[in-house]
Amino acid sequence: MKVILLGPPGAGKGTIAKALTEYDGSVQISTGDILRAAIAAGTELGKQAEAAMKAGNLVTDDLIMGIMEERLREDDCQQGYLLDGFPRTIPQAEALRTLLSRLGESLDAVLELDIPRDVIIDRLTTRRTCTNCGEIYNIKYKRPKVDGICDVCGGTEIVQRDDETEEAIENRLEVYNEQTAPLVDFYRDEGLLVSVPTSEREPVMQALLARIGG
Ligand code: ADP
Ligand code: ZN
Repeated sequence: MKVILLGPPGAGKGTIAKALTEYDGSVQISTGDILRAAIAAGTELGKQAEAAMKAGNLVTDDLIMGIMEERLREDDCQQGYLLDGFPRTIPQAEALRTLLSRLGESLDAVLELDIPRDVIIDRLTTRRTCTNCGEIYNIKYKRPKVDGICDVCGGTEIVQRDDETEEAIENRLEVYNEQTAPLVDFYRDEGLLVSVPTSEREPVMQALLARIGG
């Protein structure tokens, strides 16, 4: 399947994307993960993205489209993909439309996780990430089995992301409302929108599969 995951930071896009990759072998493409990996590796791309990301602002559309043009041409995308964190602006959505028509591909659906703001803020302020493998924990809802040690990789640095301070979170939500929320109408007009008020796996999967006929 070729699906865009839309929703504010902390809505659970990554978790749902992972569940969907298990369903049919589509790949998850997270622009946030690609950018964080570039920063960790100290590449030119990482250097260009770092300041904006740290403040919770978007990186430029040009930079993102460069990444995605390259990524969507890779072989593993044949089976389908779940776009997690992209597109994030109307210009990105328009550029994606052009790119897909050039590749002769089309989207199956745009899945919006429509989660209330208070739930989002609670989730984001309690979220912690393993600096080594990226696994996500939550100090209230999902602690590692052994305190301070990553279940997946054994890493011992489980920390709050730079953009998950209260100030950066407020900013990211504002950026979402201003720049990304307009995509809901954009994709509703294209007839692709499937909106769900939850990020619980079962109802979300059902709503999506009902639409795309899985
Ligand atoms: P979340 O969905 O939790 O906000 P992401 O990991 O998707 O986090 O993104 C983290 C940061 O990476 C964003 O705040 C932004 O700076 C940058 N970023 C990711 N995807 C995009 C994009 N499509 N366009 C612009 N900036 C992006
Ligand atoms: Zn880890």
